[in-house]
Amino acid sequence: MSELVRRDPRKAWIARNRLHPQHLEVLAELGGGAVASEWMGPNGVMRRNPHAVGFIGPNGIRRIDRSGAQQAAQAPGRSVEAKDARRHVAIDAPAFMVAVVPDMAGGRLSSHDRDLLGLARQLADADPAQPGAVVAIVFGEHKETAFGEAGIDRLIHLEGERFSGYLPELSVATLQGVDREMAPRYWLLPDSSVGGELGRRLAARLGERPAAQVWQVEADAESATGWRCTARGAAGRNDITRSLPRIVLALAECADPISETRHAAEPINLSHGLPDVLGRIEDMGEVAVDPASVSLAEAEFILSAGNGVKDWDSYHHAAEVLGATKGASRVAVDDGFMPRDRQVGATGTWVSARVYVAVGISGAIQHLQGIQSCDKVVAVNLDEGCDMVKRADLAVIGDASAVLAALVKRVEQYRAEQQENRDAA
Ligand SMILES: Cc1cc2nc3c(=O)[nH]c(=O)nc-3n(C[C@H](O)[C@H](O)[C@H](O)COP(=O)(O)OP(=O)(O)OC[C@H]3O[C@@H](n4cnc5c(N)ncnc54)[C@H](O)[C@@H]3O)c2cc1C
Repeated sequence: MSELVRRDPRKAWIARNRLHPQHLEVLAELGGGAVASEWMGPNGVMRRNPHAVGFIGPNGIRRIDRSGAQQAAQAPGRSVEAKDARRHVAIDAPAFMVAVVPDMAGGRLSSHDRDLLGLARQLADADPAQPGAVVAIVFGEHKETAFGEAGIDRLIHLEGERFSGYLPELSVATLQGVDREMAPRYWLLPDSSVGGELGRRLAARLGERPAAQVWQVEADAESATGWRCTARGAAGRNDITRSLPRIVLALAECADPISETRHAAEPINLSHGLPDVLGRIEDMGEVAVDPASVSLAEAEFILSAGNGVKDWDSYHHAAEVLGATKGASRVAVDDGFMPRDRQVGATGTWVSARVYVAVGISGAIQHLQGIQSCDKVVAVNLDEGCDMVKRADLAVIGDASAVLAALVKRVEQYRAEQQENRDAA
């Protein structure tokens, strides 16, 4: 068969015409299944589709891969597996260690934890000739299955009854043991309510001055450590730049999470065993809180209502049954259905819930800005083309009242079954 590459000028024209109804279809065909970012035009000149460059990241923002690895994966002939394949990296003899203590809120790596691990990799991989390894120390039970994908080379998992609950004294003593055994070059903790406290305790125990509220770390040849960090100071009014210290308490978005490599996440144990600590703090267990009294900025699960909600009683009832914190769009607030302190968005509260359910909210840019740090977004809307549905990880297309009523029914049914099982046991 001839080696000649045959081009279809009509298809090439459709590929160039973004408004043509078959545009995406033809681009996908030219790109071997994926929407091509580059293809050969009819006159042999390479054409580039700027809209197909990059990919949509976990927070709904388009990310552009400047290394070219993603585009290479999209080249015709590559399989889907190849597109998703991450480079496997094993660091057998690390030159040094970077220790990370993730929050593991809800038993999983949070987006804040992943950003921190991205920062850890930045520090560990700075010198390819002498790479460091990232060791994560995880307390208590967890449900995480993708430690390696998040950039972890070694994993110290402290499990069992002894490590569940609020145990700052035991946790700090354990971290001190890790410090003695591995002497990490850096300690990274999230500057959150949990990690921030633990990090400050660790710094006091090790007698070191940490950098808190760090939002940026950059290489700096003139600095003593080769790195400088920028941190919020003066109650968030100023930025402080200093040489990167050994203990770093970093804010969310301090670095990009890892997306291209998979690491070994090899489980390891502490060779000196676990410390024996006679704690003076006793964990009395969790206290049930009224979700309505939780501030929006700290809420983990938000049921937010917009202009599409017509039956407000059923919305309030659903929030109570689901145990969700209530949020609202600006229209719902301006119309007097929700108080001002419940407004989510650019001119309201920026939220970072693990689950954000947007009921009857169209997804205006000002609203989306306020939810960009949420882990999972669920949209309930009549309009399948609205921006909230595009942003959502899961969308339910239907009437808000009907969907909420069905949800409440399912939850109540589930709870009744659980109760029956408990009674029977
Ligand atoms: C300077 C400035 C700052 C702003 N700041 C904010 C801010 O901080 N937060 C904020 O939220 N907005 C803010 N806004 C307003 C923003 O631009 C939008 O107007 C607002 O977010 C729209 O609210 P909404 O989605 O509830 O209403 P709409 O845009 O009216 O959307 C209603 C949605 O409900 C759906 N719907 C209708 N009926 C049903 C039904 N029966 N069941 C299910 N779905 C249904 C519709 O399909 C639609 O998608 C700001 C605007 C400006 C100019």
